[in-house]
Amino acid sequence: MEPAGSDRSLEPMPGRSIRIARIAGIPVGVSPWWLVIVALITWSLGTSYFPEEIAGLTPAVGYLLGLTSALLLFASILAHEFGHAIVARRHGIEIEEIDLWLLGGVSKMRGEAQEPGSELRYALAGPLVTAAIAACFAVVAVLLPAGTPRVIVALVDYQLAVNVLIFAFNLIPAFPLDGGRVLRSVLWERWGDHDRATTAAARIGRGFGYLLIGLGVLEFAAGGAAGLWLSVIGVFVVVAAGAQAMSSKIEAALSGITAAQLMSAPAVSIDSSMSIGEAVAQYFLPYRYTAFPVVDGQGRAIGLLPLATAERLAGRHETSITVGAVAETDPTLLIHESDDVAALLGVSAFVRVGRAVVVDGQRVPVGLLSITDVQRALRASALAGDRDGADQSPPARPPASPRSEVRHLAPPRGR
Ligand SMILES: [Zn+2]
Repeated sequence: MEPAGSDRSLEPMPGRSIRIARIAGIPVGVSPWWLVIVALITWSLGTSYFPEEIAGLTPAVGYLLGLTSALLLFASILAHEFGHAIVARRHGIEIEEIDLWLLGGVSKMRGEAQEPGSELRYALAGPLVTAAIAACFAVVAVLLPAGTPRVIVALVDYQLAVNVLIFAFNLIPAFPLDGGRVLRSVLWERWGDHDRATTAAARIGRGFGYLLIGLGVLEFAAGGAAGLWLSVIGVFVVVAAGAQAMSSKIEAALSGITAAQLMSAPAVSIDSSMSIGEAVAQYFLPYRYTAFPVVDGQGRAIGLLPLATAERLAGRHETSITVGAVAETDPTLLIHESDDVAALLGVSAFVRVGRAVVVDGQRVPVGLLSITDVQRALRASALAGDRDGADQSPPARPPASPRSEVRHLAPPRGR
């Protein structure tokens, strides 16, 4: 049920999740898919499990018990994710948010473990929480007195069974499941090579994914509807293992490259007190860049203004709205010039806006870095790798160009 404990490369499905809470400083979101799952669990428990366990149950009570079970399951999975998140945070990995989606939970982490011991601990933390929950339900199941109403017994039995399943399933050594992370950390420790360990763990994960698909198809052919579910999980594992291997390759190619090396400079900044109309006339039209850093009265960066925002407001209230009021001001969009570019790929605001402002020690903008800049560096790195065989060296700094194709309005010539 809960294949994750995973990081941002498992961005599961389109459709943004809905924030429902903030626990221990970590935002908790729910994807619309999770609501579908809650409905499915409620329906299937309400129409088969509870009526079979409890004689004479009315349908309404059956559904109510189904919903209660689904919500308790939701709490168990959330606790599992917080197990991962809190231990990861203790090892210096920032948690952006925890999401519940189609197949369970996902902890979106910024960055990766720096050493195998850290990964081993945070990978095991989730299953340990689940094991503790299962143990509690097992104790309750044993201690329930003989005359306990069937309703309570059925509820406890279901939670016990489902937590045992979550525990066992997540320890399958199929990367990116928790067991796969454990496997990777062990290989990483043994080989001293993070990338090699990731590639091997991802390959084994993909193998398990295909195995699950095969088993699911066989089960379905034999008349078991649950086989379909197994196949869906198998497909997820295959896709996610591939994505994880790819993201690890990208991080390896970009590590050691700073924002200053890839940014487009110099920065032309807009004062936040300027109106949108003035900004269009004095900046967007003459410079034809697709975004500008926005600065306060002291010239310090507070965010950036994308062309799309100016276009959206053009002609409407463009004299009454200030640049500061509509700028993208997520603090993660300001990055220091010596920051590692690889870490930026995990910043969701950067992925959403497509750009970040590069600042110096005084928070004065020195350039803009776009996703296209990063992609160009990756392609250069891949080219260098093709030419030199297994060359791991970072790409050379791209030649400084006064006419960056990234930030300009006009499409680049000849493309
Ligand atoms: Zn987990």
